[in-house]
Amino acid sequence: MELLKERILKDGIVIMPDILKVDSFLNHQIDPTLYRQIAQEFKARFKDTKITKILTIEASGIGIALATAFEFDDAPVVFAKKTQSINIDGEVYHTKVESFTHKRTYDVILSKKFLNEDDHVLIIDDFLANGCAMLGLIDLVKGSGATIEGAGVVIEKGMQNGGDLIRSQGVHLESLAIIDSMTDTSLTFRN
Ligand code: 5GP
Repeated sequence: MELLKERILKDGIVIMPDILKVDSFLNHQIDPTLYRQIAQEFKARFKDTKITKILTIEASGIGIALATAFEFDDAPVVFAKKTQSINIDGEVYHTKVESFTHKRTYDVILSKKFLNEDDHVLIIDDFLANGCAMLGLIDLVKGSGATIEGAGVVIEKGMQNGGDLIRSQGVHLESLAIIDSMTDTSLTFRN
């Protein structure tokens, strides 16, 4: 998605060798026009796919998932919650996710009320790095018996192995920009 790549080059900031800051337009301040274009691009890439739920993880995925839902006939958005004190009472699907940016492990839950075996799910997130967040979401969907129709991420960091991991599981993964390398002075995309 050329517009997105241009925006990353213009406003993205590489902090540390492996973290890209895009908080001026994607995940702190939000550019609604860009979100709309991102959502339309996801729609184009999954155009003939029947989706009944959009699934993401709090917090940065929620806005993108909502924008995407408008393109998929207002399919409900459900987001997995990160929690510190877990009391697994049978009412929730549960998994664990190691956070790449925060270097810690979260328990992640999703109410059983909001996902079941009749659902056809599109998973959405802002970044794909080592794939832990996405694998956690896939695990939750598998636990529910729902069908994973695909996964869409805005930015995949191709130098980390998350994309390979998810694709090797047979999941239809679409990344709108795949970064092949980045330093504080240069950033290259995969074509
Ligand atoms: P993963 O679980 O694939 O290693 O990392 C995915 C999650 O970590 C994303 O949901 C995102 O919030 C965060 N993340 C990973 N890499 C980056 C990055 O370079 N920049 C930002 N802003 N967030 C990242």
